[in-house]
Amino acid sequence: MTTLVFLEHHGDEILKTSLGVLSKAAEVGGQVEGVLVGSGVEPLASSAGKFGASTVLVADDPRLEAALPQPRVDVLAALVRDRGHENVLLAQSILGADVAAGLAARLEAGLNWQLTDVLTRDGELVGRQPALSDSVVCEVGWTETPRLALFRAGALDPVASGGEARVERVEPELEDFSLTAEMVEQAHEESEGPSIEDADVIVAGGRGLGGPENFTLVEDLAKALGGAVAATRAVVDAGWYPYQTQVGQTGKTVSPKLYIACGISGAIQHKVGMQASNVIVSINKDPNAPIFEYSDLGVVGDVHAIVPKLTELVRARRGG
Ligand SMILES: Cc1cc2nc3c(=O)[nH]c(=O)nc-3n(C[C@H](O)[C@H](O)[C@H](O)COP(=O)(O)OP(=O)(O)OC[C@H]3O[C@@H](n4cnc5c(N)ncnc54)[C@H](O)[C@@H]3O)c2cc1C
Repeated sequence: MTTLVFLEHHGDEILKTSLGVLSKAAEVGGQVEGVLVGSGVEPLASSAGKFGASTVLVADDPRLEAALPQPRVDVLAALVRDRGHENVLLAQSILGADVAAGLAARLEAGLNWQLTDVLTRDGELVGRQPALSDSVVCEVGWTETPRLALFRAGALDPVASGGEARVERVEPELEDFSLTAEMVEQAHEESEGPSIEDADVIVAGGRGLGGPENFTLVEDLAKALGGAVAATRAVVDAGWYPYQTQVGQTGKTVSPKLYIACGISGAIQHKVGMQASNVIVSINKDPNAPIFEYSDLGVVGDVHAIVPKLTELVRARRGG
């Protein structure tokens, strides 16, 4: 089985979500190649060997500087045609989803998306895809190759297996129509600390905080723990906190070591985004809040009283 994994990068790092997909491809087996597309990206390539790529194909060209999908579709489509990859795996992101959809159209290939896992059975690739608000997991397949698969961000953890990748440059042949879109502006969000996809600790705030001004409570605790801040859809919809921090069915899937939920009821749509966390701690004034049903530790009380005390204790322990 031959598999190509799209390695998306931001700045000088390959995204953790892409490395998670790469590790899973290596676990499934066969020949696994990664592809990096961009400008000045060659130095990043060798790092993918640690996560299971035997070869990293690098399309390094100034015309690929902007993170636009169509030129990437050109590169991946040519590789699949020339090298005969049977599987193409990508991690979910705005760019990853656009590339996957474009590639499916270009290659007339079947795409299964929102996958959380993949395995082989009797030599066939089988994807796992949660459905019905994540209350069931379906198994999905492909009727022909190439098989395209898009994985939920955060569903797969990178596993460093310690190998080395051969780096091979490929010359991108870009279609004229792929170069008609241009990136007019790219904004960089200033933020301190890790993103919620990368954080080992997440402190999440819900409507129980009472208002946007009270997010300082969760921000302070997250900072003391070296973690990131997340939010529920209720507070994102209310404009209290930005969408990129939303965890859940219509937000991100996260799996930190510690998830502290502050003033969050624990609706199923929130649960599906964070239930894979190692340890879940919840603070809620309602002892019957559904979140307590799947928390490792539940504190019944007012977030305004408990969270600042917790922050103080953490700071005291850490000496800061
Ligand atoms: C199609 C669909 C997709 C959705 N996608 C998502 C998603 O991706 N992510 C998501 O989060 N939601 C999602 N939702 C919304 C979800 O159903 C819930 O409405 C939402 O998660 C509730 O957010 P919340 O817990 O902040 O608010 P609430 O449900 O209002 O809960 C607030 C909690 O705070 C507690 N509280 C109040 N005051 C205090 C206090 N002072 N101290 C301690 N506790 C207090 C209350 O007891 C309550 O349990 C989706 C819904 C639909 C229909």
